[in-house]
Amino acid sequence: MGEIYVVAEHRKGEVREITFEMLFKARELCRTFSHRLTALLLAGKDAGFADDLAKRADRVLVFENDRLETFNSDLHKEILNRVIQKDQPFMTWIAHTSWGMDLAPALSVKTGLPLATDCVDIQAEDGRPIVIRQIYSGKLFSRVSFKESPGYLMTVRSGAFLPPDDAEMEPGEVLKQDIPADLAEPRKTFVEFVDTGAGEIDITQADLLVSIGRGIGEEENIATIRELADRMGATLSCSRPVVDKNWLPKFHQVGTSGKSVRPKVYLALGISGAFQHVAGITGAGTVIAVNKDRKAPIFRVADYGVADDLFKVANALKEKLAGA
Ligand SMILES: Cc1cc2nc3c(=O)[nH]c(=O)nc-3n(C[C@H](O)[C@H](O)[C@H](O)COP(=O)(O)OP(=O)(O)OC[C@H]3O[C@@H](n4cnc5c(N)ncnc54)[C@H](O)[C@@H]3O)c2cc1C
Repeated sequence: MGEIYVVAEHRKGEVREITFEMLFKARELCRTFSHRLTALLLAGKDAGFADDLAKRADRVLVFENDRLETFNSDLHKEILNRVIQKDQPFMTWIAHTSWGMDLAPALSVKTGLPLATDCVDIQAEDGRPIVIRQIYSGKLFSRVSFKESPGYLMTVRSGAFLPPDDAEMEPGEVLKQDIPADLAEPRKTFVEFVDTGAGEIDITQADLLVSIGRGIGEEENIATIRELADRMGATLSCSRPVVDKNWLPKFHQVGTSGKSVRPKVYLALGISGAFQHVAGITGAGTVIAVNKDRKAPIFRVADYGVADDLFKVANALKEKLAGA
């Protein structure tokens, strides 16, 4: 039986959502190909994440040690290399995050296994994986196959797979593993977490996003849309020009060089719908676009569209909410 190994990612005492996204997709493939799904957890002592992972995998291999409380790519690489060499899983998936981008290439060199990065889909055909990656800033999707290898490594883009709320299953086994005794001292040391901005928000986790584009016109106009977002209980996001002009910090940006989001509702105000932007909202539920140009490409991906001035629509919405 083949196996898919998924490396769990956690930060500041929480398993990150991308881990559950990977486990969900990997489970789908495991069902199709009768593979076994294994979550790999490298964490500090008594981190308490294993039971949560076990609800989504056939088994969890747990390496717990004080040295693993925070991510260290040197230690992860050494431990994962030994696990992969010993167990020879068919595929090993790692999140395409700052963790994964540090770890995966080094692990590929160490194991000698091929690596495909930033995958937005993973399939298998004739006993080999096929991955889908975006190229040319998201303009094209490429379908990538591998030469035959004893195993394959992938990093997976956050937001590419959406687990349903009932993604849990019969809990799998939790198997504690010993940390190799001869583990070399890492060359890197964790120092501290530094927030990229005061009050940073995570637009990838928002259910309702109100997103502004260059159509906002002036920086001063943002306040009125922020007010609308607050009244709606929504989070404010934006297109790239708004960030380039320093009107909002980078963590608000949606798109290929920003974040992929998957809100239930995405309200796009004054956004033209360039492919680099639209590539970031493929996981959104309902897309509503307001643009005064009825030929704007955003209307091609919108479920509902209003060809009108965004301020007129925003004010009407605010009035409606005030009366509610
Ligand atoms: C390598 C690369 C990476 C990129 N990454 C990203 C990315 O991650 N995210 C991203 O967003 N872009 C990205 N871009 C930029 C992208 O190509 C577009 O330039 C950008 O998305 C356009 O932003 P916009 O829609 O806000 O502005 P515009 O294209 O200028 O559109 C503004 C829209 O507002 C409408 N409008 C104007 N006034 C009003 C009004 N009063 N009421 C209603 N509608 C109005 C106009 O009709 C127009 O359609 C990237 C580009 C490159 C080259």
